[in-house]
Amino acid sequence: MDLYALTIHEARELLDRGEVSSTELTEAVLERIYALDNEIKAYLTLTPELAMEQAAEADRRLAAGERTPLLGIPLAIKDVLCLEGVPTTCGSRILENFIPPYDATVVARLREMGAVFLGKTNTDEFAMGSSTENSAFFTTRNPWDLTRVPGGSSGGSAAAIAADLCLGALGTDTGGSVRQPAALCGVTGLKPSYGRVSRYGLVAYASSLDQVGTFGKDVVDAAILLQAIAGHDPRDSTSMDLPVPDYLAALKAPDVRGLRVGVPQEYFIEGMQPEVEKGVRAAIAQLADMGAEIVEISLPHTEYALPVYYLIAPAEASANLARYDGVRYGLSVAAKDLWETYRRTRGQGFGPEVKRRIMLGTYALSAGYYDAYYLKAGQVRTLIKQDFERAFEQVDVIVCPTSPTTAFRIGERIDDPLQMYLADIFTISVNLAGVCGISIPCGFDDQELPIGLQVIGPAFGEERILSLAHAYQQATEWHKHRPSLPIPA
Ligand code: GLN
Repeated sequence: MDLYALTIHEARELLDRGEVSSTELTEAVLERIYALDNEIKAYLTLTPELAMEQAAEADRRLAAGERTPLLGIPLAIKDVLCLEGVPTTCGSRILENFIPPYDATVVARLREMGAVFLGKTNTDEFAMGSSTENSAFFTTRNPWDLTRVPGGSSGGSAAAIAADLCLGALGTDTGGSVRQPAALCGVTGLKPSYGRVSRYGLVAYASSLDQVGTFGKDVVDAAILLQAIAGHDPRDSTSMDLPVPDYLAALKAPDVRGLRVGVPQEYFIEGMQPEVEKGVRAAIAQLADMGAEIVEISLPHTEYALPVYYLIAPAEASANLARYDGVRYGLSVAAKDLWETYRRTRGQGFGPEVKRRIMLGTYALSAGYYDAYYLKAGQVRTLIKQDFERAFEQVDVIVCPTSPTTAFRIGERIDDPLQMYLADIFTISVNLAGVCGISIPCGFDDQELPIGLQVIGPAFGEERILSLAHAYQQATEWHKHRPSLPIPA
């Protein structure tokens, strides 16, 4: 049996029955990483000593009779989330030597539950990007075709799941960064509603949009991870003080009969890859066969989502990134005076995309332009949010493509920011509206590259999207396909 290929819920049964130890499981995944990650490049930092220690501790807890969902399960953490004592670079030179003295709340929760941390995964610098090519260190490769991007910005986590280099992973999603790489790597990726999960210890990109999300080999695993990290945190005032439902109970009796499934006409656009449309339409037909009621809907302000996002996200980023001044932590390039120190530190520490966003954001926030750009963008954001509120009066969930294309080639869009930004055209509205979404595999194009189906639910309606996505996976096999990679000896 290839232990690294297990899902979290499969591994759980073997661990609980004492048929496999966490030490054996963790070793198997680490071996797989050593054999394959030179090619895939999913991880920025590996933490094998920490992992083996945590695995040994998990085995002690298992032997003492503890039975909890993530005890002894090897996971990967996107490198924008603080893991105490381990470099947290955000894919940036400016934080290359930053070692956080504390855990992000999501990391602390997983640690208490006895999860095993394999390492930190690659990301576009400060999560700005859709391909991991903006990482200051290297580009992660798509396990389905090593000449292609894994998507981004959580491309390292998505590729790690697709190549069986971890059992589950955390990512973050500000405009699509969990769902889009999940689609391009053929795995399951969930972005919870804004406020569902604590952002404490997540290095901020755009604070009104950022949310921690989960990656799994299937919906059950994504739900297990969400269960672990969801809920109020007094350290993040935007995390909602609401009860956390039992997400796994919502998966018990998968049934979509009578469910009203909305298909937004604005999400099938000219210029999208025809095979993506075909794959998504086939998935919708499958849902209809399973008894769902398909309803044509409209989200009329969709066309404004991209421009609104590229005002709000850079504006917030320009403010959040002001803290990297070479004084308190991170890179510091000494110079003759303080201003020159700032200039050189930031000039050398940030990559081109981050600088572009800081300039865009600073411009949008500057006196004289604020009302025309930032304020206006906020108003249109409200219209986009209202589109979803109206839609959810009519339907229970919305389905559409996750990404307009399958994985593109490394280098293909790097010099064309607009093309790169278009990768998130179907995911960005979800963040602007604060609702939740999940991407699940629903087919392949003629290059054997995975296609993602996005299921969107109302704010704090994660059970709905998990349950529909799970029902689809019960009826189909797409999520079980794996890229053919050399098996380690
Ligand atoms: N690709 C989008 C951006 O570059 C979204 C990134 C994200 O969700 N972190 O901003």
